[in-house]
Amino acid sequence: MLRTTSSTPKRSHDTLLIHAGRDPGAHSGMVNTPIFRGSTILSNSLEEWESRKQPDNPMASYGRFGTPTTRAFESALARLEGGYQSIVFPSGLSACTHSLLAMVRSGDHVLLSDSVYGPTRAFADRVLTRLGVAVEYFDPCIGAGIARQLRPNTRVVYVESPGSVSFEVQDVPAIAYAAHTVDALVLMDNTWATPLHFRAFEHGVDVSIQAATKYIVGHSDALLGAATANERAWPLLKNAAHDFGQTAGADDIYLALRGLRSLSVRLRQHAESGLRLAEFLQSHPAVAQVLHPALPSDPGHALWTRDFTGASGLFAIVLKPVGRDALCQLFDALELFGIGLSWGGFESLALPMDAPLRTIRPWAFEGPLIRIHAGLEDCDDLMRDMGQALDFMRRHG
Ligand SMILES: *Cc1c(COP(=O)(O)O)cnc(C)c1O
Repeated sequence: MLRTTSSTPKRSHDTLLIHAGRDPGAHSGMVNTPIFRGSTILSNSLEEWESRKQPDNPMASYGRFGTPTTRAFESALARLEGGYQSIVFPSGLSACTHSLLAMVRSGDHVLLSDSVYGPTRAFADRVLTRLGVAVEYFDPCIGAGIARQLRPNTRVVYVESPGSVSFEVQDVPAIAYAAHTVDALVLMDNTWATPLHFRAFEHGVDVSIQAATKYIVGHSDALLGAATANERAWPLLKNAAHDFGQTAGADDIYLALRGLRSLSVRLRQHAESGLRLAEFLQSHPAVAQVLHPALPSDPGHALWTRDFTGASGLFAIVLKPVGRDALCQLFDALELFGIGLSWGGFESLALPMDAPLRTIRPWAFEGPLIRIHAGLEDCDDLMRDMGQALDFMRRHG
């Protein structure tokens, strides 16, 4: 297993992805860490049992706290994110909501980006408020201006950059700097960029959350979440996960570990095809706007260039206003893009989105919003398919 000692050379992320979370010597020489299913974990002696029960002992005392499969994934992810420790959750949303719950108590104030993932917003509005937590939203483009919304009891500032529907890039370092002046913790949904393309902890984030369902699993065949904390936030995060009985199945964790091995090459292709598709769509007469921070014309481009080391394959377009019939024609004509939720799998998707719910920064566009995930198909085929479907819509709509 790849261990860190003071003499270990610093490894690049591509190398970490291949070697982290593997220990063939401990598993009969098997290249991959096997799937350990189990609830009861037996000890050979009372001494071993007592040592297993010690907090932070990597040898779990019970399956709910994880198996060697769990530890392998969590340790690989923590190294990749550059955080202190990681913990798995049964879904991305569960990682988002429990990370929030872990940090707050009644009377606290929480600030969330107005562009936050819809179900996270619903959780804040429905559950956090019921528990006596004051929930407030901020303009995703606010940057250092967040200082005006911070209160002495602000406990959490929750960012998501770029938003997975509207794609505004946030000035995370400026927001984190301001948040830390009132001792608030900065939580980030880092699913879009993955740990490869946004180094959350180097930009001041305290907890980085991954919907591993997306690019980490990468094959649309499992749901999984994970949160990685720095040393300050870790005890709170870990305790909350355990207090709520959060755990994840070894089979799904195995799929996430396997996904990690190819994350870098997949992401490179998703990003390249996504940007080529975005450029192609920018010049199509049916398209009013392309929302993709890697486009030089995008309002978030300067921040994205400064803080991110790459893109992913998810972006959105706004069509010039058309009726529902035309939209149906467009989706009927698409051959390679599936219509469905989620993203980050090997396959391309296109999905009409409702205008995002906003309370601070109103949604500025009129026409239909379509979120696109560029899969790993040949990019020329993808462009041809999108082009013919948009042309078909224009001819018949
Ligand atoms: C999909 C998604 C989630 C939730 O992940 P699930 O595994 O579907 O629960 C959280 N945040 C973002 C940005 C997502 O796209």
